[in-house]
Order: sequence, then structure tokens, then C-alpha cells
Amino acid sequence: MGYAPYMDEKVYRMAVRQLRNVARILGLEDEVVEALMHPERLIQVKIPVKMDDGSIRVFLGWRSQHNSALGPYKGGVRYHPEVTVGEVVALSMWMTWKNALAGLPYGGGKGGVRVNPKALSRRELEELSRGYFRAIARFVGSDIDIPAPDVYTDPQVMAWFLDEYSKIVGYDDWGVVTAKPYLLGGLKTRITSTGYGVALVAREAAKKVLGGFEGKTVAIQGFGNVGRWAMYYAIEWGAKVIAVSDSKGGIYNPDGLNFNRLVEVKEKTRSVINYPEGRKISNRELLELDVDILIPAAIENVITEENADRIKAKIISEGANGPVTPEADIILKEKGVVDIPDILANAGGVIMSWIEWCHNKMGCWLKDEDALKRLDEKMSMNFDTVYSEWTSKYSDEPMRTAAYAIAVSRVVKAMKLRGWI
Ligand code: GLU
Repeated sequence: MGYAPYMDEKVYRMAVRQLRNVARILGLEDEVVEALMHPERLIQVKIPVKMDDGSIRVFLGWRSQHNSALGPYKGGVRYHPEVTVGEVVALSMWMTWKNALAGLPYGGGKGGVRVNPKALSRRELEELSRGYFRAIARFVGSDIDIPAPDVYTDPQVMAWFLDEYSKIVGYDDWGVVTAKPYLLGGLKTRITSTGYGVALVAREAAKKVLGGFEGKTVAIQGFGNVGRWAMYYAIEWGAKVIAVSDSKGGIYNPDGLNFNRLVEVKEKTRSVINYPEGRKISNRELLELDVDILIPAAIENVITEENADRIKAKIISEGANGPVTPEADIILKEKGVVDIPDILANAGGVIMSWIEWCHNKMGCWLKDEDALKRLDEKMSMNFDTVYSEWTSKYSDEPMRTAAYAIAVSRVVKAMKLRGWI
């Protein structure tokens, strides 16, 4: 078997463990696992940026193109001071499963730049973004690999990516990135779509296991694009959000938090902890609160064998990618927690990306309500498919196993049809 340095990284090993687990259940040969455990192509780039003070700093970035059996690679790009190559590879593998499970015509990819974007000026951030995209430009395109936002990247970064790419190829390939600003071929509904889907599957699960969603208590870790909009829709559909956090800590109020006020506080003071009516709590405490529904929507590896036993929520909807480790999966299953896996729960973003990409390809637009309706139908259908597969075939396993079984089988079938394995 080949060796690559990322194989020593914890998060990558977690992704491979999940793959091996489902391969065993599906009876897949070792050679299939080997074919799936490495990306088809892994690009590392060096991005020199001229800083505002005149100095030059060099940043490292990656794009991992994991699998293209079902179509062009698709997945976000994250900017994070601790991102590593192993994390990017793991995330690209998760995109392969997510896109296959969602029934999209895409393979999986992911990118990352090791940088703290909060410490850059707007001009430095633009130069970094253009530099990254220039460096990967020959490997992307609307029919090759289609990046999008992820942790700490947004529509403005996508606009710079698109513009840089257009200059290189000499025309606007609108579908080369998704989650673009509205004026540049994006959809107004893209920004809310991941959170919408995360809340939607929590709602559907609550109907099945808690007798309904209304009045149920919710705690959300993370107040970025995902956590924020999950909160909005959870409230819209009648639940009570009693705790929210960001990287600085959390805020708790058993009577419920107000969405608009929280957004205002976050915008003005940069953290939800300054929300006046509530008690400050740590991110750790938030995860262990006595709530009906827990939404980890920040980063990976937050529910582990160390704290899984103390989780009191009855339902978890994974807004982040990889928030629950395989050891924690088993503990949660034993405790009877219904954990809706990331590849199902947070697929709303990439599903809306696909709708945007279809528009870009056709050159004509659906109305916003129609785009949201389409997302709603697809998410609900995907949830039902996974839930019934889980309860009928894999009820001794976490729900993740059912989601993985469907996704991995589709990818393997496509690889066999193409004659790759
Ligand atoms: N970064 C998001 C994810 O992890 C969205 C990817 C996309 O829209 O391509 O699913």
C-alpha cells in the first residue's frame, strides 16, 4: 500500500475508519477501500502575499480532488490558521460521500489555506484569494472542479475567485465557483441553505422520535453561516433556541434567545458572548446542556469518547463536517441519541450550490422561492431515504452507517461501471 504523510493525521484516519467500517458492512474488497482512501489528485500551492507593511508572507494552500466517478469534483475552500493537508483530504472524501448521498452529479473535492483571515486586511485577503485561485486555476473549471465557501470564506471570496479565473481563461465561466454574490450569478438563497437543511433534518427527526419539533429546546455550537441560519429556521419552525456559541464562548438563556438581537450583537461586538440577557458558558458546557436537540456547527472533532457520555440531547444534527468521532458514534448510539450525520444534515449548502450551477449552465434563473422549495424537497427526500434504510437494515448501528452505505455504494457502482475497479 502507498504511503503519504497525511495518513498520519488524526482527522484523515477518522475518515478512513468510517470508510473501512462501511466497507466491512457492505462486504467491499480491500482493493476498493484502497482505491477510495486516497484522493485522485492532491495539489499543494505556495501563495506569496505582499502585506500592507511591505513585507512578503508566504501561505500554503491545498486542493484535494478525491473522487470523480459521479462527476466533477465539488466542495468548499476553508481559510483557517490550523488547517492541514490531512484535514483537507478527509474533508474531500466526506464531500464525495455527501454529494453521492444527495444524488448530485458531482464527485468530491475540498480546498484549504493555512491562514488566519481575521488577521488580514481586506486588500491582503483579496491578494491571498486571487493568488490561491491563480495557483489552482489549471485544475478547476465548471466541468472539472467547482469550489465554494467553507469555514471563514464567503461570497466576496468567491467573487475574487471567479474574477481571477475569468481573467486567466478569457471569459466568465460562471459555474466555476458557487455561492457567488447575487449579481455575479449567485442565488440569494445560497447563504441560508446549509442552516436551512440542518434545521430541516432536525425537525424531521424530532417528528419521528420526539413527537414533534414545536417547543423543543435547541443548543447550537457555532454562529457562522451554518449555525446562524439553523437558529433562524429552528425558531421559524417553532423550536426554542436556548444556547448559542462562537469561537469565544457561548451564551445561555432557558427562556430562549432572540435571533435579530443576537445577530446585531455578533456584528457589533464580534461575539455572541456579549448578548446581554443570558449566562456566559463555555463551548464545552454548551455541548453538554440538557436540550432536546444539539447542533454542532463549528468544527470537527468536538464530540469524542471523552465527552460523548455526558451529551444529554436526544437528537444531534451535524452542521459541521466531522464533529463526532467514530468512538463517540458508538457511545451515542448506546445512549439512544439519534445523530444525523454531517453528509446528510449539512448537504443543504452543496444542494443549493448545484441549483446555482445549473442556473449558470443554463443562463436562466428560478425564483428564490422555487430554489428553496427544490432544496426542501431534496433534503426531505434524502432524510426519508436514509432514515428508512437505517431503521430497516442498520438499526443496531449509528445512522451514519446507513448514510455511508448508500453513498459509498453509489460511488463504488459508478467506479465499476466506468471500469475503474
Ligand atoms: N463547504 C460546504 C460543504 O462542506 C459547501 C460545499 C459546496 O457548496 O460546494 O458542504
